[in-house]
Amino acid sequence: MSIAFPFDNSYAALPEGFFLRQPPRPASAPELLAFNAPLAAELGMTGEAPPEELAQVFAGNCLPEGADPLAQAYAGHQFGGFSPQLGDGRALLIGEVVDRNGQRRDIQLKGSGRTAFSRGGDGLAGIGPVLREYLVSEAMAALGVPTTRSLAAVATGDTIYRETALPGAVLTRVASSHLRVGHFEFFAGRRDPARMRLLMEHAIARHDPQADSPLAFLKGVIARQAELVAQWLSLGFIHGVMNTDNTTISGETIDYGPCAFMDAYHPQTVFSSIDRQGRYAYDSQRHILPWNMAQLASALLLLEEDAEAQVEAYTQAVHAMPALIDAATLRRFGQKLGIAQAQEEDRALLETLLSLMQNEGADFTNSFRAIGDDPAKAEELFSDKAGFSAWRKDWEARIASEADPQTLMARVNPAVIPRNHRVEEALAAAHEGNLAPFRKLHEVLADPFTLSEENSAYAAPPRPEEVVEATFCGT
Ligand code: AMP
Ligand code: MG
Ligand code: MG
Repeated sequence: MSIAFPFDNSYAALPEGFFLRQPPRPASAPELLAFNAPLAAELGMTGEAPPEELAQVFAGNCLPEGADPLAQAYAGHQFGGFSPQLGDGRALLIGEVVDRNGQRRDIQLKGSGRTAFSRGGDGLAGIGPVLREYLVSEAMAALGVPTTRSLAAVATGDTIYRETALPGAVLTRVASSHLRVGHFEFFAGRRDPARMRLLMEHAIARHDPQADSPLAFLKGVIARQAELVAQWLSLGFIHGVMNTDNTTISGETIDYGPCAFMDAYHPQTVFSSIDRQGRYAYDSQRHILPWNMAQLASALLLLEEDAEAQVEAYTQAVHAMPALIDAATLRRFGQKLGIAQAQEEDRALLETLLSLMQNEGADFTNSFRAIGDDPAKAEELFSDKAGFSAWRKDWEARIASEADPQTLMARVNPAVIPRNHRVEEALAAAHEGNLAPFRKLHEVLADPFTLSEENSAYAAPPRPEEVVEATFCGT
């Protein structure tokens, strides 16, 4: 084997009850679809290998020395209902490295076969969802959003069966950890405080070295998740399945299933075909996260000797979250308007613009970008000229005292996002064996705050016939 990772596996050193060891399912004819060389270097991967060998490695056919593949146990609330046992049903943690920046990172294969947690599932993934996660997670990273990363995508050469027969694939996912709220709920469901304490110590070592109590740890998770959801909102991102098993302890975005960026602004936008009640609609994300944190708080209370006495403090920590989200959201949307430190009194300016946008179905990304680039041109995007120009007068008066609003706006308002119709187009071509549109889209999204004239079509909203109405789970 000519490549190596400096594995240093800490989760695998936890005692029995946290995971089950499991080798990946061999792929019959692995073919490398994408490989993230800069990320590999960041992780400390050494050596070089031709694509055929990388395909063997990242299909799981021949793991590098020191890999110790295992499926993690976790539970979770899915659409509000508790499942006491979920776990890695189609993913394997192959190991951890301490990267070049001293940060511990997990390396995981997703779609590498059945595990003890697969229940009725086949443990496999299709080429479409794998490339979708690769594209969108890397785009999120380029947008500056905390997220899991994608190291490799490999077609397995095997067929998987969904509504139709599809080509199978494996994604190599990298995360600062794969710990989810659901990991804590797993031990809470079993009333196992001893293992939960070990889990918390593991999580604290990785994410909150200064936390000295379960409550301090909870507050750390809440702070990170509040920042994360504010960032999603500021980019028009809709996760789609914010179940507690898809909510990380690290504050990274995880599990790119039916996620989507909205084109036309509407706060109730839903894409996910399985989210029939709109539980995880764009604007509902800010409300559901505190609910998810309440589940983490309930689980952690198991660690308190006198839980009764602590309930109040835990409740307060969760009840503080909406204000944290509001403040982070105001700050980020303020910056989208060129206001470095938005204050409460700036909220009206923002809300007026959003309601103008909602009335028009204005494109979320392009409206903010145009206002920063050329407000006179932005006016052309609105049919309510009077409404927009009244707003513009107020806005210009407000930013007159800002040091450099144009630069700030160009830095936070992307010129290009992974638009659903572009993603679908790239995946459809990949299904036909043509990876060129996937590669081009990946390249354009690598630098989302600048867009050359030549690539300007990637900023265009979908034409009516291109609109993607629903997105599907990554299965
Ligand atoms: P998700 O909705 O993708 O977050 O997955 C929820 C749970 O279902 C997790 O425990 C996954 O491991 C499991 N799961 C999803 N897809 C599959 C599959 N194809 N085979 C086995 N388990 C799966
Ligand atoms: Mg999941
Ligand atoms: Mg998923």
